[in-house]
Amino acid sequence: MHCGLCLPTCPTYDATKLERNSPRGRISLMRAIADGQLEPSKVFADEMYFCLGCLACMTACPAGVNYAELFEHARAEAEASRVLASPKRNLIRIFAIRWLFMDLKRLRFVGRLLRLYQRFGFQKLIRSSGILKLLPKRLRELEASTPEVCTQFSAQLIAAITPAIGKKKYCVALLTGCAQDLLFSDVNRDTAEVLTRNGCEVVTPPEQICCGSLHAHNGEWELAQALARRQIEQFPPEQFDAIISNAGGCGSHLKHYRALLADDPAYRDRAVLWDKKVKDVHEWLLEIGAQSPASCPTNQVVTYHESCHLCHGQKIISQPRQILRSIPGLQLVELPESSWCCGSAGIYNLIQPEMANQLLKRKLKHIQSTGATIVATGNPGCLLQLLNGTKQQGLHLRVVHPITLLAEAYRQEP
Ligand code: SF4
Ligand code: SF4
Repeated sequence: MHCGLCLPTCPTYDATKLERNSPRGRISLMRAIADGQLEPSKVFADEMYFCLGCLACMTACPAGVNYAELFEHARAEAEASRVLASPKRNLIRIFAIRWLFMDLKRLRFVGRLLRLYQRFGFQKLIRSSGILKLLPKRLRELEASTPEVCTQFSAQLIAAITPAIGKKKYCVALLTGCAQDLLFSDVNRDTAEVLTRNGCEVVTPPEQICCGSLHAHNGEWELAQALARRQIEQFPPEQFDAIISNAGGCGSHLKHYRALLADDPAYRDRAVLWDKKVKDVHEWLLEIGAQSPASCPTNQVVTYHESCHLCHGQKIISQPRQILRSIPGLQLVELPESSWCCGSAGIYNLIQPEMANQLLKRKLKHIQSTGATIVATGNPGCLLQLLNGTKQQGLHLRVVHPITLLAEAYRQEP
């Protein structure tokens, strides 16, 4: 089918109006390569990396085309053909994808170094010295948007096993993530608190593994498979009522281990069970009938930005809104184009800064139009992108995960 119903929902097509920047155009390119009519080329690879992977086209498609799988395989094809290879790119990929994110101990080590740089005056010193002016513009921009590393990571905030408050009804595993652990460990702590408040015993091993979405989305299919196997070993799905993710992007990938391990007889069946047990935290709270908090710290207006992989990838649309509406004193106003990508899209804002900034500006304009003082969103990438945007534009806007608002309301209860 070439109906084109996906075209108006695609942010890159919307920006350029070029067929090759649309889902239909990209699928035609993939098909030509699969049919042997085209060789993988730099143009093809660039196109695959210009795609946000936001999956808005999947929501729009009446034929149920699984763009998520096509996109991951296409990027793997682009990497295998090495048409984008250069010494600098290879080095960055080896460091980030093959080394740093394969072992989260290494990531935390780098996080600690960054924390020292930020907290002991080195960052201020470097910024005030003017030395940054010698760097290329892109590096200066990157330095300015470096996120603030948390003072404590998840393992310092959450016990390995946190008992349920009151009667234990469920035993769940909590995945603390990679970026989430470094930059938003407070969201992990809030998630554990909210779960225990609703009858869950929460298992949170201090040493966790990356879910592998970074690897799958960047053409490293085999590394993504290896990480999926390690996840299943660390969190045997047979032992938990649910395996909880509070990051939209990770959750979307975590729910598809079945496709990743379909050819592995040792893990195939466990991957099917795994996919069933993985739940986004909003989804799980609604399934178990989470309690509404008795009070709210203040009366405020909140709007909700949908993480692409939460709404398009996981079809979790009403649950975060229901949670926000359940908080007394909080008024939810709908955000125009709430499911339009904010430009974060994994590491897209690093590799395609122009398009990412364009999308960020569009998103912030809509947020401001709501008059809300809080914007809630359920993915660390979106949190970071919106935080950077509010900082750049000097906006007085709180950017927060919905579960943090719920945890704060629970804490205020008499
Ligand atoms: S994933 Fe997003 S950017 Fe990529 S083709 Fe689909 S709608 Fe367009
Ligand atoms: S991907 Fe789906 S919506 Fe887009 S052109 Fe093909 S069939 Fe139509």
